[in-house]
Amino acid sequence: MNLKDKIRIIPDFPEKGIRFKDITTLLKDGEAFRYTIDKLAEEIGNKEFDLIVGPESRGFIIGTPLAYATKKGFVPVRKPGKLPSETIKYEYELEYGSDALEMHKDAIKPGQKVIITDDLLATGGTLLSTVKLIEQLGGEVVGILCLIELTYLNGRELLKGYDVKSLIKYE
Ligand code: AMP
Repeated sequence: MNLKDKIRIIPDFPEKGIRFKDITTLLKDGEAFRYTIDKLAEEIGNKEFDLIVGPESRGFIIGTPLAYATKKGFVPVRKPGKLPSETIKYEYELEYGSDALEMHKDAIKPGQKVIITDDLLATGGTLLSTVKLIEQLGGEVVGILCLIELTYLNGRELLKGYDVKSLIKYE
């Protein structure tokens, strides 16, 4: 199945010059969605790991069915103020200002092996912040899995040293 055909590109969203990769067209296609999750599970192969971590919000859409398929737990990473229990926070710089992500303090035990999933790897800032949160808790990131990678933004370079895989690439 050619998954690229299932993704809709919206020019100039959310701002001029951005070609937004809209995965809702893939998600509503039951066969394509199932195929996507199966393919991501195949990428994991026999790799040993304990948990899947996904950043808000499309990381949840990809991460939770993958956790179900691999019989592992899922840990959400969220924007500040959303998680109810004690959290740790990682702040990162944006072009203008800064943003932050949070994770529950007890979400990961030291030494646990973690796979991170998200819909799309652009600059890699979101995934790197997720890595930092996991490592702050003593977790080990054994893989990063994305549905889409925008190779021209070089997110891989930011995530150097980690095993990054993606199903679809835009060059
Ligand atoms: P980044 O932190 O730059 O790697 O951006 C990651 C997040 O921004 C991804 O999880 C996407 O949800 C979103 N994103 C960035 N660029 C695009 C794009 N061209 N189309 C759709 N989503 C995007």
